[in-house]
Amino acid sequence: MTVAFISDLHLDAARPAATQAFIRFLQGPALELERLYILGDLFEYWIGDDDPNPHFREVTAALNAYTQQQPRCYFMVGNRDFAIGPAFLRAAGLQPLDDPCVIEVCGERLLISHGDIFCTDDVQYQRYRRITHHPVALMLYHALPFAARSRIVGKIRGESHTQKQYKTADIMDVNQAAVAQSMREHQMRTLLHGHTHRPAEHQFELDGTAAQRIVLGDWYNDGPVLYWDENGRRTERLAFAQHDGDG
Ligand code: MN
Repeated sequence: MTVAFISDLHLDAARPAATQAFIRFLQGPALELERLYILGDLFEYWIGDDDPNPHFREVTAALNAYTQQQPRCYFMVGNRDFAIGPAFLRAAGLQPLDDPCVIEVCGERLLISHGDIFCTDDVQYQRYRRITHHPVALMLYHALPFAARSRIVGKIRGESHTQKQYKTADIMDVNQAAVAQSMREHQMRTLLHGHTHRPAEHQFELDGTAAQRIVLGDWYNDGPVLYWDENGRRTERLAFAQHDGDG
């Protein structure tokens, strides 16, 4: 039985090749999985579950068709799509996960996360995250009419200052002390996350025992999928039909 992990697809109508690769994945190889985990930043941005943008509708419909056949599809929000709400999750048929959380794959327990919580060197971003992810802030945001939310997201994405903050947050690597603290807290020796766009497997020592941190890649040039089964782990890259340009 195979479990697969993906993150940082950053799906956007402006990058149709990534979206088409994801839909082909759902219609083909993903159907063979025991479980599929989507660890955040599935979308480049999220105004609200009521967004009539046909691109989001197309992805939601593809996920719905997939989860009708394979309901063990788990989803964690990222720093780009954290405004995703219950209506989208229901329509897509996704099972929401907290960030971070512990799961078991092939008898091994591991901690999974989007990954931005470990980027503690970016103090400004962590402050921004605390405010924007606060339940009260999210409640107030969701109470706004769609047009107002659309303006806010457009402003955040368009403003060079905030955009720079976004981009910096995206290229910032994790802080090793924050990683160690979280792994210790959850008593885990394996951490799997995305967000940093630096796919790798890091081996290190944690309190005298071997530990590892597995990092998923982004879907900017192709679609990396991490498969995990009894024989171990391997990454397969889904080819894009055309070039999307630099995401
Ligand atoms: Mn991210």
